[in-house]
Amino acid sequence: MLSDIDKWGIDIFRISELSSNRPLTCVAYTAFQSRDLLKSLAIPPKTFVTFMMTLEDHYVKDNPFHNSLHAADVTQSTHTLLNTPALESVFTPLEITAALFAASIHDVDHPGLTNQFLINSSSELALMYNDESVLENHHLAVAFKLLQNEGCDIFVNMTKKQRQTLRKMVIDMVLSTDMSKHMSLLADLKTMVETKKVAGSGVLLLDNYTDRIQVLENLVHCADLSNPTKPLPLYRRWVALLMEEFFLQGDREREQNMDISPMCDRHSATIEKSQVGFIDYIVHPLWETWADLVHPDAQDILDTLEENRDWYQSMIPPSPPSDDMQQLATNESQQQQDRIHFQVTLEEGDETGEAVEGGDTGGDGGGGGGDGESTTFSSEDAGGETEENATEAGM
Ligand SMILES: [Zn+2]
Repeated sequence: MLSDIDKWGIDIFRISELSSNRPLTCVAYTAFQSRDLLKSLAIPPKTFVTFMMTLEDHYVKDNPFHNSLHAADVTQSTHTLLNTPALESVFTPLEITAALFAASIHDVDHPGLTNQFLINSSSELALMYNDESVLENHHLAVAFKLLQNEGCDIFVNMTKKQRQTLRKMVIDMVLSTDMSKHMSLLADLKTMVETKKVAGSGVLLLDNYTDRIQVLENLVHCADLSNPTKPLPLYRRWVALLMEEFFLQGDREREQNMDISPMCDRHSATIEKSQVGFIDYIVHPLWETWADLVHPDAQDILDTLEENRDWYQSMIPPSPPSDDMQQLATNESQQQQDRIHFQVTLEEGDETGEAVEGGDTGGDGGGGGGDGESTTFSSEDAGGETEENATEAGM
């Protein structure tokens, strides 16, 4: 099973069962070993396992989605993306270590609540980080603190310079998993694709830190948003888990008389519709651009994403009769009807998506679980005005 670690769409749920619920330790160790990183960076194997188990223990087991299985999934996906032919021999062992480490720590001690919830409820964490990338700052702080535990410093044998460089890269990558950074990350990636430089051998030419970290940030972000690109049975499991986590937050919001965040109300959520919106506005634009960058390496991934999108589209329940009546009305009001209000705040509406409010319910401007830069996007024709909207949103 672990020999499949290099494959996109490996059954990580099965790995979890086979590893006595240690998927993260298992995947990280296998990835580091297969790349010979423990040797090249002089990481003591025992220290590595101790750290990874401690890290895994600091993921919240009770979260339906943001637990160590998600971290293992993102780490394995990052590992696979790093193997893409267009990036062959592009990154140094230190950079690869930073990316795998960032993926493995990127949601540690996640409370199962969105940034927006933490901000709206004046939580300790939001106070601590002044409402800015609250969760992402916390994940980083927890992880770097864990390195200081007895027998946990996996970077002990690196030079001071290497440690500094690695720390900076990891911080850059984990902060980039904040969904409120998605639009600017994607815009920069598009610019890079337009001005793409390729070396003689066909691999990407990245000759400065800005370009190198930008690719790594997008790579980890893609891995974080990779659920919809996986075989449908896996994707559907992830969606069910994420929705349950959102619903638990919605239950709390209801109890505490807060506004219930989009997609968090278990009595009115439209799961299939939100997945389609999430793919159309966030996931597909990102993966399409990534696929351009590493062309043709990611074609199969893009194909699966499009098939999955069509499957969820086909599963959208028919509109109630009153909606049908409205749809018979003029084209103009049809467009009104189809107006999609979209919220890209979602701290980790990333993952498998949320916060697409479709149809006549419209966007309510409530926090989708963002990071305080809550923004309601609206598109008249449901057709790719993301960039325009992004500009409007000032992201
Ligand atoms: Zn994540």
